[in-house]
Amino acid sequence: MIYIIINMIMINILEEILLPVRCAGCGRYLSRPICPECNAAMPVVRGNTCSRCGKPTMYPVDGCLQCGSNLRQIDHAVAMAVYEEPLRSIIHKLKYGNGWRLAAPLGAMAAVCLAPHLASPRPAITYVPMHRRRKRERGYDHAERLAAGVARALGLEVVPLLERTRPSPSQASLGYADRRSNVRGAFRQKAMERMPEEVVVVDDVLTTGSTMGECASVLKGGGARRVLACVLARDLLA
Ligand SMILES: [Zn+2]
Ligand SMILES: [Zn+2]
Repeated sequence: MIYIIINMIMINILEEILLPVRCAGCGRYLSRPICPECNAAMPVVRGNTCSRCGKPTMYPVDGCLQCGSNLRQIDHAVAMAVYEEPLRSIIHKLKYGNGWRLAAPLGAMAAVCLAPHLASPRPAITYVPMHRRRKRERGYDHAERLAAGVARALGLEVVPLLERTRPSPSQASLGYADRRSNVRGAFRQKAMERMPEEVVVVDDVLTTGSTMGECASVLKGGGARRVLACVLARDLLA
């Protein structure tokens, strides 16, 4: 086991020294994790949104047809962008391509969108956690890394408030109704002295909001007064 870990670290170091960095969006070797062109092409959300799910809307609304009842416990949702290219490829690399280095710049970008919506100066920044078994397999939890990027940009620290009770199958493979039952009861609050009043839950993509809604219910049940969702992308295909 230790041999494998040392091997992985060595490969990472060698990659860093020998290979120029590929842009996670377009794949070109440009010695930057996200190139200026992909940065400029980021499908950033501007203008009015649904405050509960972050979907871009014609007028500001508090709840829409696409978020339904899943996000009732969310007080405000901030999506940095919509789930389109090049962000789609970048998120794929962050999650499945050992692209944990992308978490810091992406988290910082999300923090800029989040900051105006915070009610308190020191909210707790937390994340939608992976099951510990999956985290062990993948080597890192991308949402935890993202949350660290968001927190660092705001001068705060990540507070792990939630844990997964079971390794539920990926939401991406499921329909709307199955997504809800797949995550029901899948999270519990970590043992802690006092639940912070304002909590931000960080994740990569918000689709139906079942997972985020479940996390918010646990946090509110534990005493949180205001729960915000902060995601990189709002998937509008749901
Ligand atoms: Zn690029
Ligand atoms: Zn909505």
